[in-house]
Amino acid sequence: MKASDSGIYTGPTHAPSLLTIDLSAIADNYRLLCGLTDHGQSAAVIKANGYGLGAIAVAQCLWEAGCRIFFTAHLDEAIAVRDTLPEAGIGVLNGLMAGDEDVYGAYRLMPTLNDLGQVRLWAAHCRDKGPLPASLHFDTGMSRLGLPPVEMDLLCDDLSVLDAFPLRFVMSHLACAETPGHALNREQQQRFAAGLKRLPEVPAMLANSSGVFLGKDWHFDMLRPGVALFGGAPNADKPNPLKQVVRLQAKILQIQEIDAPQTVGYGAFFKATEPRRIATVAAGYADGYLRSLSDSGTVYYGDVALPVVGRVSMDLTAVDATDAPMAQVGEMVDLIGPKHDINAVAKEAGTIPYEILTSLGARYKRRYIGGGRP
Ligand SMILES: *Cc1c(COP(=O)(O)O)cnc(C)c1O
Repeated sequence: MKASDSGIYTGPTHAPSLLTIDLSAIADNYRLLCGLTDHGQSAAVIKANGYGLGAIAVAQCLWEAGCRIFFTAHLDEAIAVRDTLPEAGIGVLNGLMAGDEDVYGAYRLMPTLNDLGQVRLWAAHCRDKGPLPASLHFDTGMSRLGLPPVEMDLLCDDLSVLDAFPLRFVMSHLACAETPGHALNREQQQRFAAGLKRLPEVPAMLANSSGVFLGKDWHFDMLRPGVALFGGAPNADKPNPLKQVVRLQAKILQIQEIDAPQTVGYGAFFKATEPRRIATVAAGYADGYLRSLSDSGTVYYGDVALPVVGRVSMDLTAVDATDAPMAQVGEMVDLIGPKHDINAVAKEAGTIPYEILTSLGARYKRRYIGGGRP
């Protein structure tokens, strides 16, 4: 149960909890996704600090694995990885905000043009300062970002605005890809294919992680996965072909043998009806061990499952260690680990692996192992 000593450490020196990020697994997942296509081409989405795992380490690893195109959500997230990825194409998904044009130029970043106003803004900027590449996103059923159908019609009636700059990618985003049977998947695929015919021929991308697994019709010229790179299951009902990237271990701070009847934690939410061995471990909701895991989560002491008892508090979580009489103060338990991955924890928390990853706190010692090269 002791953490091994290899790897690169960051984060607080005396942290009682350890987040291990397996970069080789990220690279393997990247190669696995590429291998599912005929074209072998995939970008990587590394928004929200690389899904919480550290954008710089993740970007470096994916570059070594062969990835050349990256997307973030925010402009600042893209700037943050520019030094790490001097040669890469880096796009910003959230769209071009007026006033940011020069920043895109300065860092050689690609805006994603999400409405007609943004297309015109970029065209005007490029006529003034010289042409710079951008991507175009049109909406096919999300009603979120991207040119809505009326704006697509207006654009396609007069494509001359696109003469002002090189169009690098055309994209759309799937709403229901993790539900393969959902009718919207095919509808969006058809709307996307139809939209592409009206636009200049440039590389097209539609598939997020789950979209990759819908089949080759959804692959177009390049994939655009995020969560699958980090071990997120593409489909909750099927075996997960992706490798786990994250292991989260927290120290046992104290063990109490309690006699029934006795309650555990805030709100006296859990009541022991027989004698129990309660271990308090050093992670709570402030560390992204979500409060919704109260009385429903499971941690592992080696192979032994220990249920979370009572409410998860800010810095601490109590688990029933009655089945682990050998567990000692100072040893580590797995909150996320080989027995219990991000998908299993998400299920217990009533959420999705994306939220588990992006909630991971800043108080862990972080250890990066492996790398992008095979
Ligand atoms: C987040 C995002 C992705 C990646 O989605 P995953 O489900 O994590 O693979 C792809 N495209 C867009 C537009 C996104 O916002």
